[in-house]
Amino acid sequence: MTHNAELDWRDGQPFSTTFGDVYFSRTSGLDETRHVFLDNNRLAERFAALAPDGVFTIAETGFGTGLNVLCAWQCFEEHAPPGARLDIVSMEKHPLSREDLARALALWPELSDFSGKLLAQYGVPGPGWHRLVLAEGRVTLTLVIGDALDTIQEIDTRVDAWFLDGFAPSKNPGMWHPELFSAMARLGRDGATFATFTCAGAVRRGLAEAGFHVEKVPGHGQKREMCRGVLIKQPEPEWEAPWYARPPLPAGRSAIVVGGGLAGAASARSLAARGWQVTLVERHPALAAEGSGNPQGVLYAKLSAHFTPLTRLILSGYGFSLRTLSALLGPDTGAWRSSGVLQLGFDEEERKRQAQLAAAGLPEDFVRAVTEKEASALAGIPLSSPGLFFPEGGWAHPPALVAAMTDHPNITVRAGQPVIELDRNPVDGEWIAVGPEGPLAIGSVVVLASAADTADFDSTCHLPLKRIRGQITQARATAGSRRLNTVLCAEGYISPERGGSHCLGATFTFNDDGTDVRDSEHDANLAMLAGMAPALHAALGEARSGPQVEGGRAAFRCTSPDYLPMIGPVVRQEDFVAAWPELARDATSRPATPAPWCPGLYVNTAHGSRGLVTAPLSGEILASYLCGETAPLPSSLMRAVHPNRFLLRDLSRGKLTSR
Ligand code: SAM
Repeated sequence: MTHNAELDWRDGQPFSTTFGDVYFSRTSGLDETRHVFLDNNRLAERFAALAPDGVFTIAETGFGTGLNVLCAWQCFEEHAPPGARLDIVSMEKHPLSREDLARALALWPELSDFSGKLLAQYGVPGPGWHRLVLAEGRVTLTLVIGDALDTIQEIDTRVDAWFLDGFAPSKNPGMWHPELFSAMARLGRDGATFATFTCAGAVRRGLAEAGFHVEKVPGHGQKREMCRGVLIKQPEPEWEAPWYARPPLPAGRSAIVVGGGLAGAASARSLAARGWQVTLVERHPALAAEGSGNPQGVLYAKLSAHFTPLTRLILSGYGFSLRTLSALLGPDTGAWRSSGVLQLGFDEEERKRQAQLAAAGLPEDFVRAVTEKEASALAGIPLSSPGLFFPEGGWAHPPALVAAMTDHPNITVRAGQPVIELDRNPVDGEWIAVGPEGPLAIGSVVVLASAADTADFDSTCHLPLKRIRGQITQARATAGSRRLNTVLCAEGYISPERGGSHCLGATFTFNDDGTDVRDSEHDANLAMLAGMAPALHAALGEARSGPQVEGGRAAFRCTSPDYLPMIGPVVRQEDFVAAWPELARDATSRPATPAPWCPGLYVNTAHGSRGLVTAPLSGEILASYLCGETAPLPSSLMRAVHPNRFLLRDLSRGKLTSR
């Protein structure tokens, strides 16, 4: 597990006590960064040469104080054409705390515009992948927390320029490893460059062996030499599972998104932020009318201490959702509140799970164990179990988030329009979404984000999507219940008062297609509350015989068989089976035939009851496929949410046969 950077401040400058080295030159960090990393990667010139819709990808070992990244961003703003984008991925083993980062960046007043924006998004960088959207989406930063030697193997991107930082090889020999250099070559685009402050022989030889032309050039200031280079020999591509390889990029930059819930809104937003024209089509007269229409959803991270794929996805999604909420809705607007979430250890098994998680090394300001007494003090309500406290978690009004995500000049919303058919013009490859009265929208790609109805279309009918009914209850707030400060979760949840009521729920009803609101399910929700927080249940009842139910809502969660969402491109099912007949005989075979993609067709669905946590990030996942950018998640997780995983599983189990 990673831990935060341990610093000593020497003459006001950060010094790593772990590595015994400085973060940047003690005399002129800014000038050195510009000389070593920017000038020697020729960034100003290359940024200026970008196409108006071009993307430039920088990868860095050692994010440190973010100085290199901020300087690159500043240079990009000065030189790149208006529509171009900067895509940065930076690896860091020991992230600075927010306080240390702020203190280090305060050294550079001329970067204050940029550092302010970075700091606004830099929360608690626990282990894993953190996507930050900067400059209204013109710049994205994927901060990868972990040892670069491991994490670089999971980065899915094509790099234009490398910043090879990471303390002097003599102080940190572990990082400057031949495996790092070969991964750099594997991820490099043709002609990718690198620059580094060091000239150590082992580094030069390692990079040359990996395929870079390496040259010594004058270093900055007193430093005689540094090193830079160009990738001249790309390594033989390793075998890549064709069913998970990226499909070809679409020819155009317009999209039809079907479904106006959180997943559709996030898909539309991430593409619109990249200059795409998006038409969002929704069958109901208003957006967020189904699963994303509850008055209060909770930002709730139910994690496993085993860091399963679902846990790792939640860790990335949770932070991204918090950043999105605060960027789009601002603080305390009545539409969301980072009130904190208490997960109560309501039985022996749950307490055991919580104890494991509390010992898993996650940052304290992300999650910490609390006693019964502390839990009660945090909640403002007497509670009878200890628990886990997530200080940044909270609740949000999902329709407000959907409205904010779709409020973008590049998004056109067509509400009240059911899509009944999708056609693709074989000549120009454009998709047309057709409604009962004719064509509704045209686009070079289609994103189906219509929960379980995503499988209603011929091209996606093979996706194993399931719907599970859930009903929430709105209980009228009382003087006593208004004391509830945090979201409480056990087998269900209740959120602090919003607009005079509390939202609690939700029921799970399988094989049930009704959306009627039922008294029996209100009773079940109230019984859940009585078990979880009897004092709160009593406070809601005041002098009456029980809490006063003001309303409720029933909707469906859409889930997949492994409870992970499905986000990504879609294949033609009939050709999938025929493409790799050897797989049915031998699941370990490594076929080379490309996947039979359904060109331009993508899905974003099966977020279950975790849409608030996983949906905002899902837009970035789709955008990485569609714009050829760094994936916001490690490759193993991109595969874990890939829609092809079920067809693949069936094929290798011999359950699918060619028609
Ligand atoms: N680029 C940084 C900046 O602009 O502030 C300065 C980087 S500092 C000289 C080196 C950084 O590399 C430190 O933050 C350190 O924690 C990180 N680092 C060292 N070994 C690493 C490894 N194996 N994987 C990832 N990061 C590592």
